[in-house]
Amino acid sequence: MGEHRRPDDSSRSRTAEGHEDRTDTLFGLEDLRSGPIRSPAGSPGSPVGPLFRDSPAARRLLSVREIHAEPAAAASPRGQEIIARFPRARIIDVDSHWRIPQLHGNAGNLERWVRIKSEVLVLGEKKTLATRPNGRSADWIAAGPANGCAMACAYCYVPRRKGYANPITVFTNIEAIIAHLARHVARQGPKQEANQCDPKAWVYDIGENSDCSVDALISGNVADLVNAFAHWPTAKASFATKFVNPDLLLLDPRGRTRIRFSVMPPQDSRLLDLRTSPVQERIAAAADFLEAGYEVHFNLSPVVVRPGWEADWGLLLEHMDDVLPRAVKDQAAAEVITLTHNRDLHELNLAWHPRAEDVLWRPDLQQAKRSENGSWNVRYRTSEKAEAVGSLQRLIAAHAPWLRVRYAF
Ligand code: SF4
Repeated sequence: MGEHRRPDDSSRSRTAEGHEDRTDTLFGLEDLRSGPIRSPAGSPGSPVGPLFRDSPAARRLLSVREIHAEPAAAASPRGQEIIARFPRARIIDVDSHWRIPQLHGNAGNLERWVRIKSEVLVLGEKKTLATRPNGRSADWIAAGPANGCAMACAYCYVPRRKGYANPITVFTNIEAIIAHLARHVARQGPKQEANQCDPKAWVYDIGENSDCSVDALISGNVADLVNAFAHWPTAKASFATKFVNPDLLLLDPRGRTRIRFSVMPPQDSRLLDLRTSPVQERIAAAADFLEAGYEVHFNLSPVVVRPGWEADWGLLLEHMDDVLPRAVKDQAAAEVITLTHNRDLHELNLAWHPRAEDVLWRPDLQQAKRSENGSWNVRYRTSEKAEAVGSLQRLIAAHAPWLRVRYAF
């Protein structure tokens, strides 16, 4: 490992503390130019104000001080753009984004994890470009723009392969990812039969291993993907998110990106969804995203069975019915996903956030099954799950009958 050179950039200045700082548009409009820019009002090319990703709120989530980078990733245009975006960060060469022992793993408490998630980025190249079939939420799981997440949900499965403390790895070879997807989309041709994913378009989940709204705080990768799908008439991108990033409203998805706001009763979210946007904020953002040209769906997930859960989901659905405009309701659909937990994660959570385990770990309702990687996943027993899904569907019918359930799992 060693220090890596930063891009030569004459527009950098120095702060009073001697740190390099930037006050220009380096991570302003320039970054999003890879995707079409427009003002929130919708007039193409008109100037936009300061971007959210430069705001104190965004900096609280991501305040990068170290960038661990594969040399080729650091030298790539996207890598250079990200390095320039965080001028105070120390650049450290690594052989592989998969093997950084001091970052990956589960040791330490949440405080340390949060610091790593917030202060460290990894840059790497995605070597294996594969898109695999899904058929539930999306037709395909696409090669995504990143893996890892700056948020810290107590039930998250995303970091399963690098450990729960891992920071975001940004894949800098986005052109190769998009070229791979373009070939995949072309090979499918038009969708011949409607299915639960979409009646007409092949749906590609681009956020299986990260939260794209947070990824868009870091680089133009998500903008590039949204822009690419905007030009593919037979396909649609899709990603679930727990974060409201208003900068995404400046893109022009032309109806070909589906954003799925994940929602759960606010009291569950406050206990389990650490560092995410409040649920009410996610719901309130739906109309703006629809207006900006996204398709807006909801993930009712995870459904956590605990005393009083049905009453609280009823209130949440009533709230959605009260505040969402007709236009959002007319196109909305939902996925219902009951909690999947994991035995290792349970042990880990007991050490730093045991209150979460009071509701996540319910051996009286759950059964364990060994997963492909050898760990024990825990799900509600078939009968308990069927009962929970049935209850939630009745609540939807009673409080939000406009909300079509695309699938329940
Ligand atoms: S927002 Fe999603 S990816 Fe991020 S920690 Fe939560 S569940 Fe995991």
